[in-house]
Amino acid sequence: MTSLAHFEAIAGALELPGKAVINGKLVAARSGKTFDNVTPRNGTIINAVAECDGADVEDAVSAARRAFEEGSWRKLHYSRKKRMMFALADLMEKHAETFAVLESLDVGKPIDNSLKSDVPGSIKTLRYYAEALDKVYGEVGPETNDRISFAVHEPLGVIGIIVPWNFPLLMTMWKVAPAIAMGNSVVIKPAEQSPLTALFLGQLALEAGFPPGVINVVPGFGQTAGKALALHNDVDMIAFTGSGNVGKLLMQYSGQSNLKRVSLELGGKSPQIVFADCPDLNAAAEHAAWGIFYNQGEVCTAGSRLLVEESIAEAFTERLLDVAKTIKPGDPLEPRTQFGAMVSSEQMQTALRYIDKAKKEGADLRLGGKRAREETGGFYVEPTVFAGVTPDATLSREEVFGPVLAITKFKTSDEALKLANDTVYGLAAGLWTRDVSLAHRAARELKAGLVWVNGWDSCDITMPFGGFKQSGFGRDRSLHALHKYADLKAISITLR
Ligand code: NAD
Repeated sequence: MTSLAHFEAIAGALELPGKAVINGKLVAARSGKTFDNVTPRNGTIINAVAECDGADVEDAVSAARRAFEEGSWRKLHYSRKKRMMFALADLMEKHAETFAVLESLDVGKPIDNSLKSDVPGSIKTLRYYAEALDKVYGEVGPETNDRISFAVHEPLGVIGIIVPWNFPLLMTMWKVAPAIAMGNSVVIKPAEQSPLTALFLGQLALEAGFPPGVINVVPGFGQTAGKALALHNDVDMIAFTGSGNVGKLLMQYSGQSNLKRVSLELGGKSPQIVFADCPDLNAAAEHAAWGIFYNQGEVCTAGSRLLVEESIAEAFTERLLDVAKTIKPGDPLEPRTQFGAMVSSEQMQTALRYIDKAKKEGADLRLGGKRAREETGGFYVEPTVFAGVTPDATLSREEVFGPVLAITKFKTSDEALKLANDTVYGLAAGLWTRDVSLAHRAARELKAGLVWVNGWDSCDITMPFGGFKQSGFGRDRSLHALHKYADLKAISITLR
């Protein structure tokens, strides 16, 4: 296994991306301003990053529009588009370790996750949409003797992509790849906590030969760069992953500007239900633990509510705790670490506040509950488990976006489904049972965009990803995502 020293050496030798990528060039912000990019690993500053604002967004959107109208990318033969996307994927593969180190430094996630999941997952996504782009067909309408009609997919134009910090590269790629596959130009606004991998991606896109203006990256803050992008009259769509509050603002910005399309992938309070006839309690315990503790709980599909049938509740909780006790916060650059730092001091404080509140509301703290590795200067929180959480408790209702699990008991399958659906969110849900009829009924009744039976997070790029209710609308992944970045045009030719 590669060592901590190996990844520290890579980190030490990195040329850190800090400039915006606009119109085919690496540029400073017009204002000359930069912001400090901090690593949650130990709270130190990694580098200074261009602080883009409205003026830089204006440049990036103009460049994207120009590229789109001139057709330097849009009108390229599909085989050349495909080749260029594959070339970018190959470059990403060549620099996979650099991407992984950048990601782990920037957001505190274990290097093992970055190397085995985030980076290869992003490359796979790019290749998936490169392979798909020449398999998007239109439709020919019903024939008449004097007219032929058909429907074609047209790219929208300029897509603003605003992403969060928990899976910075993967969330970016889930949007960039289908958007460019359909012929659009993009302006990416990475989260201020995690700009590095998007900036490196923008640089590599130039090396891969993408024409200027097709892929632009404007690092900066939500209130300035993000808002300017979302209010811009020449942006045709905002593709967003992030919090519900910002999602609501984006819809307002759309209404205040040009009615641009908005797609929203928002948060969740996802339930995982374990019935007494669960076919494999050990597997369920593993999935329940990693369903909440993977990526330090900073996962929109985190299984943050565990609903367990009363007859097995205590025994199952013990099994889960046996797994959870093995999950220890560690240095994100150490290859054996499976649980790293939270992205920022603010996010750590948020998780600690929720823990405090749960204790005050009378939940039974069974594991963790404290800050960890404080001596490093980093932002670590112990994997935390509360049992006896009531359905109306804050921990049952609000998204923590941290490593905090709420366990609630139920008696009947009807009660379990009612509890599971008793949330404003609807992103993911899971259930464990041997009963095929129950599995089928529950899968249909659960109000969530993703349902997993006898597994957790058990699907991939081939299946659509997104939420019901206040978890948003619009889907990433799968062939459905392609259509999100296109309009349908009906063309009728009268035969004379
Ligand atoms: P956030 O909504 O605060 O920020 C997300 C992005 O929006 C950032 O790039 C930020 O700069 C930008 N932003 C902030 N204010 C803005 C504004 N006024 N105008 C335009 N852009 C603005 O979310 P976060 O704290 O970075 O991420 C955590 C949240 O994201 C959680 O609620 C989580 O559930 C959600 N999330 C959802 C998914 C999903 O696929 N459904 C995936 C990851 C994260």
